[in-house]
Amino acid sequence: MSFINTPPQISIPIKGKSATFLVHQIYCVGRNYRKHMVEMGYKDTKQVPFVLFLKPSDAVVLNNQEVFIPKFTENFQHEVELVIAIGKEGENISEKHALDFVYGYSVGIDLTCRDLQTDAKKKGRPWTLAKSLQYSAPISDITPVEKCGYLHEGKIQLSVNDNIRQKSNLKHMIRPVQKIISDISQFYTLYPGDIIFTGTPAGVGKLEKGDCIYAEIDGLEPITITIN
Ligand code: MG
Repeated sequence: MSFINTPPQISIPIKGKSATFLVHQIYCVGRNYRKHMVEMGYKDTKQVPFVLFLKPSDAVVLNNQEVFIPKFTENFQHEVELVIAIGKEGENISEKHALDFVYGYSVGIDLTCRDLQTDAKKKGRPWTLAKSLQYSAPISDITPVEKCGYLHEGKIQLSVNDNIRQKSNLKHMIRPVQKIISDISQFYTLYPGDIIFTGTPAGVGKLEKGDCIYAEIDGLEPITITIN
């Protein structure tokens, strides 16, 4: 088959391999750490709805790259998250089999225009313009499961200019990796190349021009991003 066009192909480096990971969809889970729900003003942290949104594939920003603050926001914020890279096609996946679909993991930063999100929430509008922007998803090199194993706990941390802003443990995720994969696959067929952001712990905050972000998760490749 031939094509009339050549859209950009977005891919992520893989630790220890020369081949890269071609990106398909980017799914993002919200409200997955209770302390973050509290800082966002949610009163009920017992009954947690399944909150899902998507980012375009060209949201991907690789390690050591720059991100420009969009001109339409006054409050551009960081959210460090465990990222799942999907390696296998599947739908209606059970939690029991969900980890078979994990190719590897990365450290991701869900960059968010918090002022636009707050306004959208008030008006009952979608979060698209607050969350689903180009260059809004920095992602570190992928560590394959064969190197890091399946992640159920471990430190997750983000610093801005060497000051720790977010620090938690993956064990505090309300929905663990297998539950997230199972839940998404009830609505969407997952494909190799899909990326899943799994929600952020407390400590999200505003970014300024010139900031240097360093985000890390135990056992994974870290990511450094500068803001401009
Ligand atoms: Mg997020």
